[in-house]
Amino acid sequence: MTAAALLAEWEMVVGLEVHVQLKTRTKVFCTCSAEFGAPPNVNTCPVCLALPGALPVLNAKAVELATRAALALNCSVQPISVFARKNYFYPDSPKGYQISQFDKPLALDGFVEIGARADQSPIRIGVTRVHLEEDAGKSIHDRFTGVTAIDLNRSGTPLIEIVSEPELRSVEQVGAYLRVLKQIIEYIEVSDVSMEEGSLRVDANVSARRRGDTALGTRTEVKNLNSFSGVERALEVEFARQVEVLAAGGTVLQQTMLWDAGAAAVRPSRSKEGSHDYRYFPEPDLPPLILSIAWIAKMRKDLPELPAARRARFVTDYALGAYDVDVLTANSRVAEYFESVARAHGDAKAAANWVMGEVLAQLKAAGQDISSFRVRPADLAQLLDLVSGGVVSHIAAKQIFTRMVATGDSPGQLAEREGLIKVDDEAQLAAWLDEVIADMPGEAARYRAGETRLQGVLIGAAMKKSKGRADPKKLNQLLAARLGS
Ligand SMILES: [Zn+2]
Repeated sequence: MTAAALLAEWEMVVGLEVHVQLKTRTKVFCTCSAEFGAPPNVNTCPVCLALPGALPVLNAKAVELATRAALALNCSVQPISVFARKNYFYPDSPKGYQISQFDKPLALDGFVEIGARADQSPIRIGVTRVHLEEDAGKSIHDRFTGVTAIDLNRSGTPLIEIVSEPELRSVEQVGAYLRVLKQIIEYIEVSDVSMEEGSLRVDANVSARRRGDTALGTRTEVKNLNSFSGVERALEVEFARQVEVLAAGGTVLQQTMLWDAGAAAVRPSRSKEGSHDYRYFPEPDLPPLILSIAWIAKMRKDLPELPAARRARFVTDYALGAYDVDVLTANSRVAEYFESVARAHGDAKAAANWVMGEVLAQLKAAGQDISSFRVRPADLAQLLDLVSGGVVSHIAAKQIFTRMVATGDSPGQLAEREGLIKVDDEAQLAAWLDEVIADMPGEAARYRAGETRLQGVLIGAAMKKSKGRADPKKLNQLLAARLGS
C-alpha cells in the first residue's frame, strides 16, 4: 500500500492550546512594564522576581482584555473564577510555580466558526475554555558560550490560554482555525498576535484513529511551533508518524514532541510533564476573581464588530464580491479605512479597487501599517472625486497618489502643481496628435489604410506626450476624425 493510501484510511484529530499575550501596559500581578524588546531583566521587581514576601495584585486591564476575548469567542464568562498554582520547576520561572487557573477558569463553552466565506457553510469548532495566567521568563541558550542566560522581562506578563475541543480534522482546518482566531483577537484589540514576537503561541494535541472510529486515540502534544505553516507541517509529520506506528500494530506513547523546523522532523521532548504532576491548588495570595453579571453584560455590549459580522455587512452595504470583502476585512484597520473612503466618495467599488490595489501595494512595498499611512481616507476620497468628476485621468490619478504618499499633500493641490489636470481642449489634443503622426508616419499610414489595431499604439503615444493629462475619449474621437478608416 502506498503511504498516501495508508494515510487516507486514518483520520487526524487535533485540539489546540493557543497562548495569547494580552496588550496591557504593565504585567498581570505587578506594575513592571510589559513592553517587548527592553534590555534583559530591566522590567523586573520583587513580585515578578519572586522575592520572599512579595505579593501579587491582579491587573484590572488584563481581566478586561481576557473577558473581551472570551466573549468574542462566544464563551460564557464565569462570575467566579479562581487562580491556581501550577507547580513545576523551570529555570526561567523563579517562583517554582505559575499562577494560572485550573478547575474554575474565567470562561467556558465557546466556539469559533471556520470556513465562513460567503460560498461555504461554516464549521463550528468548540472552545473548551479561556483562562488567564502569567507568562514565564526566557532561557537564552545562544548568547554566552556554554552558559544559559535568563531574561525575566517576560516573567509575569499576562496571557490567555484558549483551549479548543479536539474537533479539528485536518491541517487545513487547523490553519483556518488559527487564522480566524488571530483575526478575531486583532479586531477586538486585546493582543498584537505576533508569532515572531511570541505574543501568539500554539501547542497542538494530535492523535490518529481509523476512519469511522469514534473513540479518541492516544495523543501527543507537539510544541515549539512558531509559525502557522510550521503548525501545519508539524502536524502532517506527526500524524504520519503515528499512523505508521499504529498500522504496524504498535502503540502511540502519550508524550511531548518538539518540532524541529530545520529538519522538518518531530522528536520526543526529554522533559516528562503530565498534568498529574502539576499539583494544582488554589493560589492563597489572590482572592477568587468575582465579576458582576452587569459588568460582563456591559463588556459584551461594548464588543466591536467582529470579522464575520463585518464581512456580512460589507456584502449587503457595499454590494462587493466575496473575494473583495475577504481582502478588505482581513485587517480591521484596513476595513475601517476602506469604509471611510467609500462613505466620503460614494462609489464603494471604486474605493475598494483603490484600497485593494494602490493602498495595499504601497503599504506592502513600504512594510508599513495602515495606521501610519500618509494618505488619509478623506484625501483618497477627494482624489477619487477628481477621477469620477473628469478632472484628472486615471493615469494621472495614479501619479498624484504616488505624490500624496510621498508628501501627504492634498490631491487638488498636487493636480494643479504637477500640471495633471485633464486636458480636453481640442486645439491642444490636436497638437499632440500632430506630433504623434509626424513621429510615427508608418503607423499612421497603416492605421489610415484600415489597420485599426494600431489605434491603441497611436493613442498611447499621444497620452504619453500629454503626460497622462489628455482626455482619452476626446483623443479617440479626434484621431478617428483625422485618420478615420
Ligand atoms: Zn514586576
